[in-house]
Amino acid sequence: PFDVLVVGGGPAGASAAIYSARKGIRTGIVAERFGGQVLETLGIENLIGTKYTEGPKLAQSLEEHVNAYDVDIIKGQRAKGLKKKDLIEVELESGGTLKSRTVILSTGARWRKVNVPGEEEFKNKGVAYCPHCDGPLFKGKRVAVIGGGNSGIEAAIDLAGVAEHVTVLEFMPELKADAILQTHLSSLPNVTVYKNVQTKEITGTNKVNGITFSNRENGEEKHLELEGVFVQIGLVPNTDWLGDTLTRNRIGEITIDNHNNTSAAGVFAAGDCTDSPYKQIIISMGSGANAALSAFDYLIRSEA
Ligand code: FAD
Repeated sequence: PFDVLVVGGGPAGASAAIYSARKGIRTGIVAERFGGQVLETLGIENLIGTKYTEGPKLAQSLEEHVNAYDVDIIKGQRAKGLKKKDLIEVELESGGTLKSRTVILSTGARWRKVNVPGEEEFKNKGVAYCPHCDGPLFKGKRVAVIGGGNSGIEAAIDLAGVAEHVTVLEFMPELKADAILQTHLSSLPNVTVYKNVQTKEITGTNKVNGITFSNRENGEEKHLELEGVFVQIGLVPNTDWLGDTLTRNRIGEITIDNHNNTSAAGVFAAGDCTDSPYKQIIISMGSGANAALSAFDYLIRSEA
């Protein structure tokens, strides 16, 4: 069996695997796609110490860094269940089972899509999901934010400080964000809010040039010219496969403490699949390191 088995090969998983392996303990990492969300990212400008890199390049160097250590890398495999017996068992969809004394879950998350024409086509060409990451690219430009929940309104307030103008599109008749955020938003001069509207299409040629939406009451369509669209309708953690084996919060994120302990002894979690408040590459890397050090601490305190 492994001493530490990491499930997920994004920034959190890579970091957890390297920190574990550096303790000289038997380390494995199982991942469906090594690199995680980073593979879908183009420019990365907020990985501190690296002024600019690109997702596929970072994914490759994460894998190279893990490969520099004695880590069993198991790629192209999805975990489908977790069981605690004498050891912790991770069942794979392919039928196999991996056993380990500790497990670090780092299965990440995915942005919920609006599923309208143009969204896939213009991803990274004006369609964005992360205001902390891509906001500065829209300095002085016009953007729309799809979604009027907390993340949408936080994004709109954030973007209003950078962009020339921000349009918020909310599907429901009312915004769902906290009142204090709504009050802040309404004080901003360069924000327009449309409620009860449905996004129909993100238009463009080689990059985004507009958005079309309809009024859900009378069906009337409207087209706005703009340069960017931020989709903010939820980040979904990849944790369904855990069922009731661990405590997860209302939106499915794994609940952890500041040692990255989950509700099951010996099972740790790190990165975007957890209830940590901000989801970023550098935060996930730190979280993976923290989880690995906690796992090591757990191992030296338990019987071999
Ligand atoms: P992930 O990167 O989501 O990795 C999860 C891993 O788990 C993957 O290897 C996946 O294949 C695997 N996995 C999932 N389910 C299973 C399973 N059941 N069994 C086995 N393996 C599984 N952050 C920044 O800091 N700067 C940016 O510029 C930036 N831009 C972004 C742009 C886009 C388009 C997106 C989508 C995100 C961006 N982010 C950015 C956010 C950043 O990518 C994430 O915060 C970070 O990748 C999270 O790392 P993670 O390791 O926790 O999870």
